[in-house]
Amino acid sequence: AKAAGRNTLRFFDPHMQASAAQRFALQNEIREALLFNQFKLYYQPQVDRTGRITGAEALIRWLHPERGMISPMDFIPIAEESGLILPLGNWILDAACQQLIHWKQNPLTAALTLSINVSARQFQQPDFVTQVLAAVTRTGANPHQLTLELTESILATNQQDIITKMDALKSHGIKFSLDDFGTGYSSLSYLKRLPINELKIDKSFVNDILTDPNDAAIARMVIRLAQSMELNVIAEGVETQRQRDWLEQEGCLHYQGYYFGKPVGAEEFLR
Ligand code: C2E
Ligand code: CA
Ligand code: CA
Ligand code: CA
Repeated sequence: AKAAGRNTLRFFDPHMQASAAQRFALQNEIREALLFNQFKLYYQPQVDRTGRITGAEALIRWLHPERGMISPMDFIPIAEESGLILPLGNWILDAACQQLIHWKQNPLTAALTLSINVSARQFQQPDFVTQVLAAVTRTGANPHQLTLELTESILATNQQDIITKMDALKSHGIKFSLDDFGTGYSSLSYLKRLPINELKIDKSFVNDILTDPNDAAIARMVIRLAQSMELNVIAEGVETQRQRDWLEQEGCLHYQGYYFGKPVGAEEFLR
């Protein structure tokens, strides 16, 4: 394992493809990790222009007994290709809903929203809507506090199927955020057909917003697009005050990033 510049260890060299044998071993380990409860959700604050925390994004961590913390970038792709993302995704939904119930008990956290990442493969399951609603019912979480983060990769599905699922969840108060926005290649026409609430400016653009005119132009375009479609817009990967100020000046009023807080366990998030 090798340090990755954050508080996680990379299981693989990020520049090398895992071998078939490594992937197979990892699949079995993911299965075991589910059984032995080695996954944990971390929470990263989302703040408004006044700096007030309005919600959090849930980000999964694997607390491996021997290898320490493993980044989702090292196991989510393998969970996706093996189908293990389905039981894992349900675990994430349940854990996130339980967290909302926990937050309910404290007036400081009772109104927070929680964003959950949903894989395309998970979204494409015929029973996806049932699974989400089951988690909400089982835990008693308020669906109005739940946002599902989707990426453009879900667009590979038949569009009517996407709309049907999103509308069904929306009718219960669940919201949708488009993650990694601007990094995909799809046409933008789907934006006007899908019941999306929020665009998330990808951290790859935010990172060089002050130095790279192309990244600044894309970020500005996303903000304008969100404004004209009356969508919320949030920037991820905000690391400095200057980035935050640039975004505010351009009209982006919600932020997430190390400048405001790293993803941390639920106990630390409360503090
Ligand atoms: P993402 O959804 O785009 O999440 C944002 C990533 O940026 C997170 O990495 C977060 O820790 C990191 N980040 C946040 N603020 C900053 C910052 O200021 N600077 C920098 N450099 N990075 C920042 P993380 O937690 O390693 O997650 C990586 C990816 O793994 C996520 O990207 C998401 O695609 C996936 N993932 C994480 N948790 C889940 C999950 O519960 N379910 C699914 N399906 N995927 C997940
Ligand atoms: Ca996300
Ligand atoms: Ca992203
Ligand atoms: Ca760049």
